[in-house]
Formats: sequence, structure tokens, C-alpha cells
Amino acid sequence: MPVVFFGHGNPLNALDHNRYTQAWRALGAAMPKPRAILMISAHWYLPGTMVTAMEQPRTIHDFGGFPRPLYEMRYPAPGNPALATRVAELLAPQRVQMDRSWGLDHGTWAVLCHAYPDADVPVVQLSIDELQPPSFHYALGQRLRPLRDEGILVAASGNLIHNLHAYAWGRHPQEPYDWALRFETNARELLLAREYEPLVEYEALGEDALLAAPAPDHYLPLVYAMGAAAADDPVSFPVDGIDGGSVSMLCVRFG
Ligand code: ZN
Repeated sequence: MPVVFFGHGNPLNALDHNRYTQAWRALGAAMPKPRAILMISAHWYLPGTMVTAMEQPRTIHDFGGFPRPLYEMRYPAPGNPALATRVAELLAPQRVQMDRSWGLDHGTWAVLCHAYPDADVPVVQLSIDELQPPSFHYALGQRLRPLRDEGILVAASGNLIHNLHAYAWGRHPQEPYDWALRFETNARELLLAREYEPLVEYEALGEDALLAAPAPDHYLPLVYAMGAAAADDPVSFPVDGIDGGSVSMLCVRFG
């Protein structure tokens, strides 16, 4: 199975039909159908490494101030407790807590409702430990690699560039900031060259990187995806674009 990093952007993409959502749909249809999906979402960012281990994860509406239809959306994909156990096995000796209270947050369902609209592929989420450095997350991503040979889609959902201080809410179109264009161009070149190390240690890339990822939560899912990528995986970008000037919608497919 390939590994995919989705740039999820505005939660309204869940309801929308635009070039991002069309690309997600086409991508879901183009890949072999996975047995299950392991999703690393920017929106499950807390102290500790946890996996969702319930049979039926609930749909979480973890945002505020959006139109009612977004709160009425449900993504009824089943869970997969056996996959949760398998993930804990692969990540050992890292302690992984079996979680029965989270569910699917919008980082997950806002893209999967397009990529797998029938919600018939089981989904398990893996949390991002906010106390750990990027190298830790890269190492966990590497340990997830065997899942790909077991029919599991390792997917990650965040944004390569996610700066909401600069984001033009409702004032579209907004030209991308120069620093955003520079950072994305640089990141694309490194990804295509499969030079992941500088992207793992992204804080060393300078001021553009700090503007692109003022907080690590939306960037770190990409670090997991790079970890799960194999050295010979072709890298492609099923869709790109910079939304509101400062949110990169870049989607990266490895393999
Ligand atoms: Zn988000």
C-alpha cells in the first residue's frame, strides 16, 4: 500500500466539492482498496501515544463556529481493535495506550468522506505525542512501515503550512505569502529527492519553517508519513495549492 499525507485545510472541505476534494476522491479510487486505514491526525495532539481501539468510533466535531450541516455530518466507518493491537506491537517498546473515548476527528473524516465516501474501510487513529521531538515521530513512522504489506493504508492528515494568524478567513482569493511559496517549493524539492532528514528537523530550515509551522501539530503528520515511506517509493503530489495565503493544501503520495 502507498502512504498518503493529506493537507486537510478548512473543515468546510468536508461539505465542499472543489479541486482538493475531487483529488482526494480520485486518489481513493486509484489506490488498491485497503483492509483498514491507520490515520495520524493533527487534531489528536496530546501528551502520550494512543490508538483508538473501539469497534465503532464516533464522529467528533472538534471545531467551533461552522454551519450546522457540518455538525450533522457523520462518518460511520467501523474501528478495528485488532489493528490497534498490531500498532501497539509494532511501536513497542514505546508505550501505546488503547483508547476507547476518542473517535474520528475532523482531520480524519473531512478527507476520508471524500477518499472513501462509503465509509466501508475500518479506521484507527494514532495520536501525536505533543511532548516529543520530530525525530521521535519519524521513528514511530518507520516502525509502522510493515503495515503497508498487510494491506493497511498509513495515512496522515495535517497541513505542510498552517499559519492561521496569517490566514484570510472568508477573504478569498488571497495570494500566497512569499515565505509560504518559498517553504513549499523547498519542501517539494526535498520530498521529490527523498531527502527527508531536513524535513524531519524542519525547525533548522529557518524562519520560513517557523512561519509555516508556528505550532507543530499540523506539520508532524507529514513526519509520520515520511517515516512510513520506503527509500524507493516514488513521491507524487495528487493535489496542491495554498489556501487563504498561509495554508498549504499539498497532498503527498509515497509509493
Ligand atoms: Zn486542522
